[in-house]
Amino acid sequence: MIFTPAHNENEKPVPACPACGKSGKHVEAQTVNAQLKKEFKEQLAHGADQFCFCTSPECDTVYYSLDGTESYPQSAIKSKVTIKNDDPSTPLCYCHKYTKQNALDDMKTMENHRLVRKIKEMIAGDKVCKKANPKGSCCTMDIRLFLAGHNIPWDEKRVSLMPRF
Ligand SMILES: [Zn+2]
Repeated sequence: MIFTPAHNENEKPVPACPACGKSGKHVEAQTVNAQLKKEFKEQLAHGADQFCFCTSPECDTVYYSLDGTESYPQSAIKSKVTIKNDDPSTPLCYCHKYTKQNALDDMKTMENHRLVRKIKEMIAGDKVCKKANPKGSCCTMDIRLFLAGHNIPWDEKRVSLMPRF
């Protein structure tokens, strides 16, 4: 049996979130600086480059310091976090201000494959993820999960027209 170790996007070991115990991902200082509300940014005890993003949907902590002694919940963050907030006004794509409500509206008027194409074209456009997205990276995986939750496949399953030999 092959075990695939869990790893994060930049391959560095990531300390666990002090609130939920799951390991998150590193975020850059520009993300923390762009996302923390002013009053919290002013009281930062660690450098803004010393934080991780908690990737657990059920955990209220958004950022925690590498040593686990300083953390910030959703209420300290300017943006609503896609994976942690069910409010329809929560963005799916922060760069293009496309919300869960926008997607729900589009689901009513567009066929699944057209909606997926629209979103793929949107997220292929100009990106400012590191500042706009509290996760500090592209929204693609979160959108895929959201659509999957509505039974909308990200990849169209093409029926093979090749003859079978
Ligand atoms: Zn957590």
